[in-house]
Amino acid sequence: MRDFYEILGIGRDADTNEIKRAYRKLAKKYHPDLNPGDEEAEKNFKEVTAAYEVLVDEEKRSIYDRYGEDGLRSNYSASDFSGFGDIFDDLFDIFGGGFSQTYRTRDTNGPRRGADLQVPLKISFKEAMLGAEKEIKVHREEECKTCHGKKTEDTSSIHTCPKCNGRGTINHVQNSILGQMIQTVTCPDCNGSGEIVDKPCKDCNGSGRENVKKTIKVSIPKGVDTGSVISLGGQGNQGINGGPAGDLLIYIEVEEDQVFKRRGADLYVEVPIAYSQAVLGGTVKVPTISEMIEEKVPKGTESGDIIKIKGKGAPYLRGSGSGDLYVSYKIHVPKKVSEEEEKLLKDLLVAQGGQIEKSEKGFFEKIKDFFD
Ligand SMILES: [Zn+2]
Ligand SMILES: [Zn+2]
Repeated sequence: MRDFYEILGIGRDADTNEIKRAYRKLAKKYHPDLNPGDEEAEKNFKEVTAAYEVLVDEEKRSIYDRYGEDGLRSNYSASDFSGFGDIFDDLFDIFGGGFSQTYRTRDTNGPRRGADLQVPLKISFKEAMLGAEKEIKVHREEECKTCHGKKTEDTSSIHTCPKCNGRGTINHVQNSILGQMIQTVTCPDCNGSGEIVDKPCKDCNGSGRENVKKTIKVSIPKGVDTGSVISLGGQGNQGINGGPAGDLLIYIEVEEDQVFKRRGADLYVEVPIAYSQAVLGGTVKVPTISEMIEEKVPKGTESGDIIKIKGKGAPYLRGSGSGDLYVSYKIHVPKKVSEEEEKLLKDLLVAQGGQIEKSEKGFFEKIKDFFD
C-alpha cells in the first residue's frame, strides 16, 4: 500500500485541519454514490478513508509515523483498523447524515443471523452446588408458520417496490456547503426489502415472523455462581432469510444460603461448639454440600478459630475437583442450662478460684496491677 500522506496528498507535518480538508476533497471525488459502478473509484475511496482514519487519530498517527502500517496492525485489532469503523461518524459529520446508511442497510434481503435471547435465571445454592435440570420459558421469534416467512400466502401479490425499483434504497439529492450531494437512504415504502406485498399474511401482518412461546430444558452444571452465563447455541431467535439462529444466553443468579458463604470455589461455615469441647477437644458434626462429616475440635480451641478441610468446597465449574471448606468454630454460650450443668459449672467456678482464667495472668490480677 502507498504511503498514507501520499494518498491524501499532504506533507508529513500536516495538521488536523489540513488532513480533514484533504480527506473531504478526495472522499467527495471518489465517493461510490457519485461514481456508481466505478470500481477504481471505490478502491480509491477505501484507500483515502483508511489513510484518513489513521492520520486523524493522534495515537494511531504517531504509531504509523514510527513503525508504519505493521506497527498499527500489532497495536490494533482488525476491527480498529478496518478502514470502516468509527469513520462513519466522521463521514456523517462531513456529509451531513444519510450517507452511512449505504453500508449499514445494504443486503437487507440476504441471510441474517437471528438475535440472541437473554434470560435471567435464579437458582438455589444447592442447585448451584449439585447441578440441576431446569425448564425456562422464552419468547422466541420464528418464521411465521402460516406464510413460512414469505410475508404473504399469495406470492403473486408480491411485486417490486416502484419507489426504489427493488433496490431497497433511494438517492436523495441535497444541497450542502460541499455542493450538491447525493445521499443514499433506506426506501421508506418497502423498508429496504425492495418488495411490496399487496395481500400481507394475516397472522404476521406481513412481517414473516411470529413470536413463539417455548419451554426449554436447561442443564445447570454444578459449580455455577452468580454471573455465570450458560449459552445454548441456536436457541435464540430464528435466522432471517435462511440465516443461522441466534443463541440463548442464560444469566445465572444464585440465592444466598443460610448455612454456607461462598467465595469463588471456597465455602465458609460457622459451627457452634460447647465451652467444654473447646477446652478438652473432641469431635463435632460439620455440614458439607453433600453430607454431614465428623471433624476434630483441637484441644484449647478459641472462638473464631478456623480449620480448613481440603476439597470439600464448591465444585469447580471447569475441570474436576472442588475448592476447600473453611470451618469457623464458635463457642456457644447457652442462655439456659440444666440443673446438673449448673452444679458442674459452679464447681468449676470454685475450682477456678472464682476467676475466669487461672493459668495465665487473669483479668482480676491485671486490674490489681492497674491499681497498684
Ligand atoms: Zn405470516
Ligand atoms: Zn422500496
